[in-house]
Amino acid sequence: MSDPILPTAEQMQRRLQELLRASFSTPAPSPSEPVAPVHNPDTVPQPIRDFHLTPKDIKKHLDRFVIRQDEAKKVLGIAVCDHYNNARVMASREAAAPPLEYSKQNVLLAGPTGVGKTYLVKHVAELVGVPFVKADATKFSETGYVGGDVDDLVRELVQKADGNISLAQYGIIYIDEIDKIATPSDVSGRDVSGRGVQTTLLKLMEETDVPLRGGNDLQSQIQAAMEFQKRGKVTKETLNTRHILFIVSGAFDKLGHIVTRRLKKSAMGFGAAPTPSASESDELLRLAGTRDFVDYGLEPEFIGRLPVRVVCDSLGAQDLFDILQKSEGSLIRQYERAFAAYGIEAVYSTDALRHIASLAAQESTGARGLMTVCERLMRDFKYELPGARVRSLEITPAVFKNPSASIQALLQLGEEEARHTQRLVIEQFAERFGGQHGFVLRFDPAAIDAILRMAFEKNIPARDLCESLFKDYQFGLGLISRNSGQSEFVIPVDAVEAPDRVLSQWVVASYRTKEENEKP
Ligand code: ADP
Repeated sequence: MSDPILPTAEQMQRRLQELLRASFSTPAPSPSEPVAPVHNPDTVPQPIRDFHLTPKDIKKHLDRFVIRQDEAKKVLGIAVCDHYNNARVMASREAAAPPLEYSKQNVLLAGPTGVGKTYLVKHVAELVGVPFVKADATKFSETGYVGGDVDDLVRELVQKADGNISLAQYGIIYIDEIDKIATPSDVSGRDVSGRGVQTTLLKLMEETDVPLRGGNDLQSQIQAAMEFQKRGKVTKETLNTRHILFIVSGAFDKLGHIVTRRLKKSAMGFGAAPTPSASESDELLRLAGTRDFVDYGLEPEFIGRLPVRVVCDSLGAQDLFDILQKSEGSLIRQYERAFAAYGIEAVYSTDALRHIASLAAQESTGARGLMTVCERLMRDFKYELPGARVRSLEITPAVFKNPSASIQALLQLGEEEARHTQRLVIEQFAERFGGQHGFVLRFDPAAIDAILRMAFEKNIPARDLCESLFKDYQFGLGLISRNSGQSEFVIPVDAVEAPDRVLSQWVVASYRTKEENEKP
């Protein structure tokens, strides 16, 4: 039997849209329709009204989490403070007051992957108390069903702000991989879609009203249809992007070549100027100017809207070690918490951290390498130890050398430690039992071993096992004590195997003793 021909996702979406339109005869709002802005100066959100941070405050906060990137922290601090101070001032002005001139300080972060660009922006947004949305620029270069609409970013901000539109309009939109939509002019057949995306992003970055319901997405269509059904009309809310801070970033791998070429050219032109010691790609990126970005393939208008540019440093083994040891967001804390959830206290030695950092540096993926390496090194420990009797785990380079031997040793040690603790528990049980009932009770060492064995086999705590094995001993031993005057008892190994039999033998014997004692 042949498979039925299923419609594609695109076809399905189109059909549903047609159906919805036909059923409710309400056109979904489209971005081109006139829309009314929702901004109301009376509802300025608290984080903006109360914004009083300084660039130093921001840097200090970022220092807690992000290692290195001092320049980026400063630059972000300044841009963020200017942006939100301006927003606060604008919000506090009379509606009729003439607008203040302000050029937005959108930021471009250049630097390799995994060096903390996203991490910086995320923490800045958290500190300010505004929503933050991240997307890859490449996501927008595709068209059709999968390709996103840049306006979706704004709508996502509203979602992140739990529907609080007035807060969303002060959010931060972070677009990564901006270098991937560059379209170098020396390449034949210029990539039109990349340029198209730059133009759309540009519009968003300047100032535009974004409808809060997308014209194309199904969810919005359904919402609009439902609203139409309920109220007979569809309200069109929009969000103005004036106060949204845009931060874009990219690795710009090849930008170094462009800078070198330019520098060489100018060096030749002036004859004597030596090529700057800019062999490091970080250094070359630092030397990049607007012209270089344009040569790289960013539209002049686009790069022109990104006046604040800063390069994030590549991270070496020492930086990665510092991240593990000093960052509040260190992966090590995460691993410690993961083990703690199983009652295991994990401790990393300094050498172990150095070992992880140097392996991670070889991955060349910045701090992301730490995750890869830790995951690989710790995998067996995270699998084998939970549920075993291990209570502590000291992680040293030796442990990584031979993980399976270390795990075996830990499991064995865990068993021994557990036995030791359980032994104490059994002795305490006897002590407390005797104390409560007015006699001395002890276990024979062989009896303790037998209880331990049984507890491990049945996988129940030794105390619970003792309580169930010797539940009749309170009454029995009391009787014996009264019959024979015996006040000290040693529980033998037999009593663990057959507690009731041993107790009844003792009771019978005590009556005999009693009789003998009572003989004249
Ligand atoms: P990218 O530069 O590609 O945006 P991310 O910021 O996403 O990199 O970094 C990935 C993760 O690595 C972060 O979530 C963070 O845990 C860690 N990390 C990266 N760089 C740093 C840094 N400089 N200091 C502390 N942690 C960092």
